[in-house]
Amino acid sequence: MIFEDALKRRLIAAVADTVFAHADELGALDRAIGDGDHGINMKRGFEAVIADLDQLAAKPLPDLLKGLGTHLVMKVGGASGPLYGTLFMALGKELPADPGLGDATRAFAAAIAAVKARGKSDVGQKTMLDVLAPALDALAESGGDLPRRVSETVQRAAEATKPMRATRGRASFLGERSIGHVDPGARSSALIISAVAEVLGGAA
Ligand code: ADP
Ligand code: MG
Repeated sequence: MIFEDALKRRLIAAVADTVFAHADELGALDRAIGDGDHGINMKRGFEAVIADLDQLAAKPLPDLLKGLGTHLVMKVGGASGPLYGTLFMALGKELPADPGLGDATRAFAAAIAAVKARGKSDVGQKTMLDVLAPALDALAESGGDLPRRVSETVQRAAEATKPMRATRGRASFLGERSIGHVDPGARSSALIISAVAEVLGGAA
């Protein structure tokens, strides 16, 4: 797929827009099992990204992703800033300028491994990884309406963190009381991935 500037711009804007539109919801989720700052953190990060939109969209995709990751590391803060930063920077390192599906699948797998290493975490601990990993599985399955399948998978995966007990991050301090709430980072990952899938689905 050719990543022209207009497509890169639409991708960045769609991801930022969904973060802005759901900032209150992310804050409420984090208030239930954390310190309530996830919505504000993500909003601050993507405001910095949008302030740099023209320059980012003009870069080749790998540099765009590294630049976006750098903004998130510098501006989001908390646990999620370095983790999202790692995710986007690893994608930037692994992807060619105009990736196909195979490239995207390989790069996403490497980026998830980088997040796991950075977070000393894995699937099943009620974190963003419980959305990222199923998204990779959906990407790796061939056939069907891929964007829709990925979107449905991540929405379902975020909901599926509700009955889980957190064993990483701030929510783990709550032990059993973390059960019964969707993980905020899982929700923000689902929102971001859905936005990307929707734009790429329309562009394919
Ligand atoms: P903080 O917890 O420092 O306030 P945020 O509220 O911005 O940071 O982000 C919280 C989210 O970060 C959690 O909902 C979870 O998804 C994710 N998270 C926290 N720690 C880890 C970890 N070690 N590995 C993966 N994800 C994590
Ligand atoms: Mg928080």
